[in-house]
Amino acid sequence: MTSAAARAALELTDGLPVSALEDFYRDLHRHPELAFEEHRTAAKLTERLAGAGFETAKGIGGTGVAGVLRNGEGPTVLLRADMDALPVTEQTGLAYASGTPGVMHACGHDMHVTWLAGAAAALAAGRDAWSGTLLVVGQPAEESGKGAAAMVTDGLYDRFPRPDVLLGQHVAPGPAGLYAHVPGLIMSATTDVDIVVHGRGGHGSRPETTVDPVVTAAYIVTRLQTVVSREIAPRESTVLTVGRIEAGTASNIIPATARISLNLRTQSEAVRDRMLAAIRRIAEGECHAAGCPRGPEVTLGNSFPATVNDAETDHRVAGVHREVFGEATVFDPGPAMGSEDFSQLAEGKLPYAYWFVTSTPAAVWDEAPGEDLMTKFDAVPSNHSPLFAPDLSVVAPGVRTLVSGALAYLAPAN
Ligand code: ZN
Ligand code: ZN
Repeated sequence: MTSAAARAALELTDGLPVSALEDFYRDLHRHPELAFEEHRTAAKLTERLAGAGFETAKGIGGTGVAGVLRNGEGPTVLLRADMDALPVTEQTGLAYASGTPGVMHACGHDMHVTWLAGAAAALAAGRDAWSGTLLVVGQPAEESGKGAAAMVTDGLYDRFPRPDVLLGQHVAPGPAGLYAHVPGLIMSATTDVDIVVHGRGGHGSRPETTVDPVVTAAYIVTRLQTVVSREIAPRESTVLTVGRIEAGTASNIIPATARISLNLRTQSEAVRDRMLAAIRRIAEGECHAAGCPRGPEVTLGNSFPATVNDAETDHRVAGVHREVFGEATVFDPGPAMGSEDFSQLAEGKLPYAYWFVTSTPAAVWDEAPGEDLMTKFDAVPSNHSPLFAPDLSVVAPGVRTLVSGALAYLAPAN
């Protein structure tokens, strides 16, 4: 026996304008825009929301969009799509590949906008089947981790009703048509850290007159490898990657400074704080050991909080997805080391569910080397790859996931 929410979702998405939505997706894919520059994308989304009967506003937190549909008594449900693209040169060779040099929708946010527009239209057209308030959000700048917070700071919830529950989804590698739900931690926290080592520059032939920051930076990078392996409990999933090291201008000049940039992934605040303390200690210790004229500057850059689904909310949404798509299509992959700023829209307290929709085209998946799921998963193009290309077959299902998720809260219970 299916729930009222699942029945209503199937009915409302029965006649989805799939080819028009595919056209919309291809248009967005052809016109990617970087974080906080999503002017065209925001305008296209706003136009669709207004056309469906939503009261809309643009320019929230920079380029953010929101639309509200008040439809009687009931909870307020927020549906979110992020809108920004990445500084990646597309190599998919698709007919609808990016027309903007060096910019690509390599994370699939164009698909998210398409899903949101489709779901907003379907729910608006079928408003007799539910009651409550629907708030849809086109969020800028997910990739820099700043867009969600910018919208909240700019008064999103002063201008629009504060939601009772938030729903978001992301395309991911995997055979198209699966729905990854985790009733708890699903995405890790991340923090960028910059370290500047201050040495004393001089002639390459006279090291005795200098403090060489290159050697000190090398020791720091090497010693940082012990943070995860020697200071953090093996049960914790953490990553510390030094992604950049920069110093000097010529082979016979000892430079005055060296710069190290690294990125942390953690699954709790406590572990993050512990790693940051270790990083500071190691940087200071190595600079002291080298006799640097002053201590290192350690500064924190972009950071994303962990994404932790409310278990009850995730169970409810996963349940309706099982009804709509079939029991075997919903699975729990456990937490990922990637990061998201979606939880900032929940202001640290509102319950939310965030899930993945797998989108690798069947032919690409079948041809990937390996027999088991994980080997293939590691072989197919992932988000941020210049070859990442979600299959168009996921356009309609991604609309249905949002519609059924919203109706799990908005449809009359029976
Ligand atoms: Zn991304
Ligand atoms: Zn993304």
